[in-house]
Amino acid sequence: MRIGYGWDSHEFKSGIPLKIGGVTIAHPKGLAGHSDGDVLLHALTDALLGAIAAGDIGAYFPPSDARWKGVDSAVFVQTALEQVRRAGYAVANVDSTLILQEPRIGPHAALIQRRVAELLNIDASAVGVKAKTPEGMGTDNAAIAHVIVLLTKQAGKPRRRTRVLEEVPQPVVDAVAESLLESLEPQKRGKE
Ligand SMILES: [Zn+2]
Repeated sequence: MRIGYGWDSHEFKSGIPLKIGGVTIAHPKGLAGHSDGDVLLHALTDALLGAIAAGDIGAYFPPSDARWKGVDSAVFVQTALEQVRRAGYAVANVDSTLILQEPRIGPHAALIQRRVAELLNIDASAVGVKAKTPEGMGTDNAAIAHVIVLLTKQAGKPRRRTRVLEEVPQPVVDAVAESLLESLEPQKRGKE
């Protein structure tokens, strides 16, 4: 069994779409940053990579790389999930907490839960989505996400040694990411 933890934050900016947990939420402000700014999926990606000690999101998808500008963050989650599978693990459950002043997450929580479960190919009942407001933190113009994951050894599969990031050749990472980008083509990469 392995445990993984991820944290992320993004600043709100007017006039861009707000995406949290792969769900587009109607709001006057979105989250600025590299890719689509999906704070929950970024924290989830780091939690998955952290659980197998395989580096972090920035190492796989550097903000300096123009390919990831505006991209659907589902690509990051799926790339991390592929690393988890190669290491011989499967996701048992995920828990998350969002900290943001607005919008209220409650009305969207069930949709976020289903979307995250779908991305991880697990049951929605194995995905916790909670939200709080940042009382006394002074972070009203930011969204923060904490995510924790539990991985279990996959039965009946050859157990490969967990490889550290430096041992994963960059062409492999690129090939996985490219194929995922192609599979997401109907969602118009860079637009969401
Ligand atoms: Zn991020």
